[in-house]
Amino acid sequence: MLTRIKMTTPLVEMDGDEMTRILWSMIKEKLIIPFVDLKTVYFDLGLEFRDKTDDNVTIEAAEAIKKYGVGVKCATITPNAERVEEYNLKSMWKSPNGTIRAILDGTVFREPIILKNIKPFVRTWDKPIIIARHAYGDVYSAVEIKVNEKGTGELVFTGETGNESKVIKKFDGPGVLQAMHNTDQSIRSFAKACFTYALDKKMDLWFATKDTISKIYDHRFKDIFLEVFENEYKKSFEESNIEFFYTLIDDVVARIIRGNGGVLWACKNYDGDVMSDMVANAFGSLAMMTSVLVSPDGHYEYEAAHGTVQRHYYKHLKGQKTSTNPVATLFAWTGALKKRGQLDENNKLTEFAEKLEKACLDLIEEGTMTNDLAVLCDSADVIILNTEDFLDQLKIKLESVM
Ligand code: NAP
Ligand code: MG
Repeated sequence: MLTRIKMTTPLVEMDGDEMTRILWSMIKEKLIIPFVDLKTVYFDLGLEFRDKTDDNVTIEAAEAIKKYGVGVKCATITPNAERVEEYNLKSMWKSPNGTIRAILDGTVFREPIILKNIKPFVRTWDKPIIIARHAYGDVYSAVEIKVNEKGTGELVFTGETGNESKVIKKFDGPGVLQAMHNTDQSIRSFAKACFTYALDKKMDLWFATKDTISKIYDHRFKDIFLEVFENEYKKSFEESNIEFFYTLIDDVVARIIRGNGGVLWACKNYDGDVMSDMVANAFGSLAMMTSVLVSPDGHYEYEAAHGTVQRHYYKHLKGQKTSTNPVATLFAWTGALKKRGQLDENNKLTEFAEKLEKACLDLIEEGTMTNDLAVLCDSADVIILNTEDFLDQLKIKLESVM
């Protein structure tokens, strides 16, 4: 019997909903608790308990991440009208991810898990491309007017010391108007989160806007990134032998497609929305995409990028076995354990998480996988397992290397 690895600081554990809640307990029971003397501060973000606590549990969980530094989160339902009925909810609670992101002032980084036997659609990509999306402002909180007649559109700022206005367009007839904003504070937090994460991953950071066209708005993003870099990160980047590269958005798109990956790509809100869908799909499967929320203060929250896999859950409720892919949820756990290990200088914990990740990738690359990967796999010679059998095989593999 091997002795279980001790932890000094607990992880903030946030349980969730539906099929991913099932994956959550299987992963813990089969792959973590037998090897690690797991310490967590547990929050149940399952929809029923969120409803019971008037969503306060979500706020408490976010505060706990601030206190302890590292959290791991299961996918959760963001309720819509159907869910309000299905769960008989008191209110249509907000997205837990949105609530946590607002409290931590964090940036989300999405990173694909790469496998030798599943080729991305872009053949040259052999390293991950991590996308960081600035999740504040721009067109997502824009105000708009539908113009129906002849008239003048103006942009007006009313300040404490003075006012400023500019004519946008003198309309001869119908059209549309839009005004959007961002704040220096939010852009600066975004920049810091990106620089911090690039150093953490030892990856080059690329950032792009359209500052040649948007000489005030986009240019402000460029200036803030350059200023934060010069003042706070340049030296550490040099020491880590990584680069910060600023260019135009169309140039960066061309470079990403021609390149072989291995970059952290910081995107403005809209660019990140669009490009993260492109990159995720080009790498193959949503079930192989992980997600990390990083705050400017260096707090981390790990999760899978996919949702609660509702369709599989309804099959599970009928007693059927499903071949739901647990990899992204597993990597949320290993990501959090690795980070905890690093922060606490607990090498055994970090090594364990690395071994677990490697065992998982080896198992799939040797041809044992869930159904979603089998359909993307190069080789015809694959063994498709249901989730439970896959995790059991992984446990055997992990035991052989511990
Ligand atoms: P989803 O859970 O991401 O699943 C959509 C489809 O993608 C599934 O039906 C499945 O396709 C495939 N898929 C996703 N993850 C998979 C996995 N691990 N293994 C195998 N296949 C996988 O999205 P959804 O069903 O549209 O949303 C369900 C709930 O998730 C919603 O209530 C939403 O609010 C929530 N959500 C939460 C988060 C989060 O907490 N981060 C993110 C997104 C959505 P097949 O059915 O074809 O097998
Ligand atoms: Mg999108």
